[in-house]
Amino acid sequence: MKFVQLKNTVIGRFELFESFHEITHFISTRVGGFSSGDFASLNLGYGTEDDAETVTRNRLLLAEDLGIPLDWFVFPRQTHSNHVYRVTNADRGRGSLDRETAIPDTDALVTNARHTCIVVQVADCVPVLLFAPDQRVIAVIHAGWRGTASRIVSETVRNMQVNYGCKPAEIFAAIGPSIQQCCYQVGDDVYEAFAHWNGDRQQIFHRHHSMLMLDLPMANRLLLLNEGVNPENIVMAPHCTKCTPEYFYSSRFSHGNTGRFVVGMMLW
Ligand SMILES: [Zn+2]
Repeated sequence: MKFVQLKNTVIGRFELFESFHEITHFISTRVGGFSSGDFASLNLGYGTEDDAETVTRNRLLLAEDLGIPLDWFVFPRQTHSNHVYRVTNADRGRGSLDRETAIPDTDALVTNARHTCIVVQVADCVPVLLFAPDQRVIAVIHAGWRGTASRIVSETVRNMQVNYGCKPAEIFAAIGPSIQQCCYQVGDDVYEAFAHWNGDRQQIFHRHHSMLMLDLPMANRLLLLNEGVNPENIVMAPHCTKCTPEYFYSSRFSHGNTGRFVVGMMLW
């Protein structure tokens, strides 16, 4: 992933997707927005204690920088579920200016609709971007530990297979900035939530002295591989959100009181 300076803001982009001119994608950062204090500066989340009008100004600024009208964006109301929603043209604009019209109880969006920018919001949780060039289908996923344990990434790949005819071996996947193993200490309750992962569980949890550390991006990579995505078609951002506070919001870094950055994708 590389950082790109736009007119007002800075975004991250994956080289993996650059040769596909039928899509655009972005990872927003904290840089260039109007929010202050704990939310400085490009906070894009209404579900925070930041001023809603300022969040709207930030969203409009990012949309302008990207050259995508804000009423083409579609936001879900995320609940750490494994629910996948199929977005159509009729959903355009939902959640873009308020929380009430967002797609309810959903943590993954899939679409083959053009000019419909699907996004998820994060601040330590794992964002995943998928593109299936064979059927021109895109997906964005929000995977915290609960969504990862209940395999939301697998549910999304299956949804793309069943409803759109995508072949997993043809899917390209990018795992965005999230809290990484260096900083993600968890409790035994989280370890227990992964009991049904059987042998795979040993690959994602590590003991460091007396601390239990979870490698959440690696867990999502495992899910993609288990669904048949090719390892050479998967890239992972090297950035840990807690270790990179100048670019990313991190719930752990800010002890919960923080903003949200977004990860989005759109078919032209
Ligand atoms: Zn870290």
